Amino acid sequence: MSKHTVTLIPGDGIGVETSAAMQRVLEAAGADIEWEVAEAGTCTMEQYGTPLPEETVEAVKRNKVAIKGPITTPVGTGFRSVNVALRKTLDLFVCLRPVLSIPGAGGRYDDVDLVVVRENTEDLYAGIEFEEGSDAARELIAFCEEHGAGTIRPDSGISIKPISITGTENIVRYAFDYAVKQGRKKVTAVHKANIMKHSDGLFLKTARKVAEEYEGCIEFDDRIVDAFCMNAVVDPSQFDVIVFPNLYGDIASDLCAGLVGGLGIAPGANIGKEYAVFEAVHGSAPDIAGKNLANPTAEILSAAMMLDHLGEQECAERVRAAVRAVYAEGSCLTGDIRRTTGSDRPAATCTEFTEALVKALS
Ligand code: ATP
Repeated sequence: MSKHTVTLIPGDGIGVETSAAMQRVLEAAGADIEWEVAEAGTCTMEQYGTPLPEETVEAVKRNKVAIKGPITTPVGTGFRSVNVALRKTLDLFVCLRPVLSIPGAGGRYDDVDLVVVRENTEDLYAGIEFEEGSDAARELIAFCEEHGAGTIRPDSGISIKPISITGTENIVRYAFDYAVKQGRKKVTAVHKANIMKHSDGLFLKTARKVAEEYEGCIEFDDRIVDAFCMNAVVDPSQFDVIVFPNLYGDIASDLCAGLVGGLGIAPGANIGKEYAVFEAVHGSAPDIAGKNLANPTAEILSAAMMLDHLGEQECAERVRAAVRAVYAEGSCLTGDIRRTTGSDRPAATCTEFTEALVKALS
């Protein structure tokens, strides 16, 4: 395989452990990667006064491809979330989260194979918020009243939910193009258009319009978000590629991860026109950080997605085959999986699980 330079942002919390595990496994799989390590999160606050230093953003721009561990957003920094800031700065408008059963990982079903495509830049994540009691909130409340938009209680905090035609076209087109490229059959758009007519309604109307371009090639349908949740739990086989506005996509990602064994095994990627940042669905899990208890599978499978993106499908498949083999064998699994499988065998540490993967690759 050819050499690639990739920016590695280990993050904090369990990210430190899962990133080290990921590097070890990729090396064992023969991935020829030069890592350019860049910091973000609590660890950069003292030196740079920000959880997302410019140097880190520049490092991602330079290499175009990055993999990052989860990052805890320090309280009181003015940042709502480092992850959200990174997605916005690099215009990573797609959040791609494949959900695939791994036999032995304790999922509710053996045959889940769906893909969550979440819009990454708009919706309630736009960060346009008005604090309860502020002048701006009072003015906005008065404006809504004046324009007959409705009455808001004076003691309300307000978050704005923008959904644009441009943002929706971009994400829905990505979902369809992905479906075509991956030989998939159907795209489902999820919304609450019956209640939020001007945001979710616009999302649905725009999705239907984009779907017309793919008629006869990829099927299209839509679901109201609450019905989607129920249907996904009862029978996930009815879904293939599913496209969501930002917030529903965030919630549905965890729900879908739960179908196949939990957050410990759910990989993901943030993709834009120029850059791609790969990261697990889970957060920094402070309750188990630094205890060698984390399951690194999600970050390792995110790295396999990164290898695909780099054109190294063979190496990516070696990594995925090793993961499947270790789960199928079943003697060396981390605590999160032991709990979902109901097994009373002792849990493996992050290090032991990683070494089992390395052995499967040798
Ligand atoms: P965020 O808001 O940053 O997404 P969150 O509140 O969803 O974070 P997570 O950190 O994603 O929380 O995880 C919730 C819990 O799931 C953790 O506290 C931990 O117990 C468990 N968990 C998450 N990821 C893993 C993992 N890789 N290995 C083992 N357990 C995990």
